[in-house]
Amino acid sequence: MTSRPAAFLDRDGTIIHDVEYIARAEDVRLLPGVAEAIGSLNDARLPVIVVSNQSGIGRGYFTYEDYERVQARIGELLGAGGAHVDATYICPHPPANPAACACRKPGVGLFEQAAREHGLDLAASWYAGDKWRDVEPALTLHGQGFLIPASSTPSEDLERAQRIGLVRDSLAAVAQEIIATLTGGQRAR
Ligand SMILES: [Mg+2]
Ligand SMILES: [Zn+2]
Repeated sequence: MTSRPAAFLDRDGTIIHDVEYIARAEDVRLLPGVAEAIGSLNDARLPVIVVSNQSGIGRGYFTYEDYERVQARIGELLGAGGAHVDATYICPHPPANPAACACRKPGVGLFEQAAREHGLDLAASWYAGDKWRDVEPALTLHGQGFLIPASSTPSEDLERAQRIGLVRDSLAAVAQEIIATLTGGQRAR
């Protein structure tokens, strides 16, 4: 399998409104413009991979079945907007776990797993989310990170990303920039 780039997206606060520890499908609301943005990445044939910390499972706040119902609802809403996610990876572990897992962001375990399973070039990929921990994997893996501010974004996360010029207004703006890079790259070759 040849190695290709992907768009790695956070879920809560990036694709859907961040209701802390969302456990019910009826609470799922897509953020504005997200279906169109993901649809444009689908049209560009860029794999869209969601990587999400879901510590609510490990903390016992909701079950894996609750998580799956929320996922199904997100898929439904995206599908209604003509968009889809190619794969989703989650870390179910709580952060205070003494044997710290390799999968909780900003750890890169899930990104590496996705790369193995889908033949992805992590250094050529994009990483976007509402928190610094969504951007940091891009720095670790030598890809391109973007912070998209939401009500859930801590101000220190925003400042940190601002200092290195990685803040973008919306997922739509990120998708546009990715597509411009993809098509620009094709032209240069
Ligand atoms: Mg988030
Ligand atoms: Zn984990």
